[in-house]
Amino acid sequence: MQRFFAENLFDGITIRQNQMITVENGTIHSIKSAQFPDNATQLLGLVVPGFVDVQVNGGGGVLFNNQPNVDALFTMSRAHQNYGSTAILPTLITDDLETMQLAADAVASAIAQNVKGIIGIHFEGPHLSQPKKGIHPTQHIRSISHEEMALFKRTDIGLVCVTLAPENVSVELIKELVQANVKVCLGHSNASSEQTLAALQAGAQGFTHLFNAMSPLQSREAGMVGAALLDSTSYCGLIVDHEHVDKTSCQLAIKCKTPDRIMLVTDAMSHVGSDQIELQFAGMQINRQGNKLTIEGGRLAGSALDMASAIRHSVQDLHCSIQDAIKMASSTPSTFLGLQQQKGYLAPGFDADWVVLTEQYYVNATYIAGEQVFG
Ligand SMILES: [Zn+2]
Repeated sequence: MQRFFAENLFDGITIRQNQMITVENGTIHSIKSAQFPDNATQLLGLVVPGFVDVQVNGGGGVLFNNQPNVDALFTMSRAHQNYGSTAILPTLITDDLETMQLAADAVASAIAQNVKGIIGIHFEGPHLSQPKKGIHPTQHIRSISHEEMALFKRTDIGLVCVTLAPENVSVELIKELVQANVKVCLGHSNASSEQTLAALQAGAQGFTHLFNAMSPLQSREAGMVGAALLDSTSYCGLIVDHEHVDKTSCQLAIKCKTPDRIMLVTDAMSHVGSDQIELQFAGMQINRQGNKLTIEGGRLAGSALDMASAIRHSVQDLHCSIQDAIKMASSTPSTFLGLQQQKGYLAPGFDADWVVLTEQYYVNATYIAGEQVFG
């Protein structure tokens, strides 16, 4: 049995002082008030549930599309652990079928080998809208075929999330995906609010990077953004790097959806956890200037955001409480993924995944299954 003493602990619901955490086989056994940290590892700072990021294209200098293999997943996971993410969905941007299969095989191997932090895969595309493609390569955007359907239904690749444009995928096919346990997210889409609501009816559960690359809210057409904000049960990923979404729009989204339905995502490219400036992807050059990644012409190309920064931005600039910011990074995405009995909270029976934050909300240490992986 491992013992840890936390002076300050946010368990996902409340903040408590002087708590003794015991861990057995990677799972929290008990959390109890204690006076002294005898025989326990002291955790100095605010201990919070590990962050869960449902959209990670890369990290540590590696882009998953360019290197769809286990080594890349290991590097990406390590890079994001330094910023508090204890579980990630490696995300494959629209690509050809072969790369999709390699990516799925890599995730299957990573899960079989127990690579820490890899819990599934997010296929962002290829069934998207051409007008809202962002940097997704035009030549690979296509309608869904039996091959992709079979890939999405694989049972050896952990949790599967698929981002699709509902104007290009029928409600019958959305239902089929949902039946197969796939989390369907709507995004890179020009759908009307009506088409969006039909997809939600069919079982779609989320929206990918709310506001970005989706039909906007307008006076006579509410668009995908309007439908997403109105709907109270679906989950929205939000990129709080202040490059993708205006602060007021972020605040509006959190007000409409509540922190129980907004998920902080990084949409990180290879740059996170690396000093990389230039990245080649699908014949495009992506350049970093400060915290902004763009292709020629200025179009945004993913982010250089890490989860701890997203939390700091939420607290400092969106005026969220630290509890709400942590929730949006941990319990909300965990619940979206169906892991609400496993991750996102610190309580007996939950995974011993936590982050120790400094007073300024930088990461001091990261633990996965009771083992220190950073700090
Ligand atoms: Zn995207």
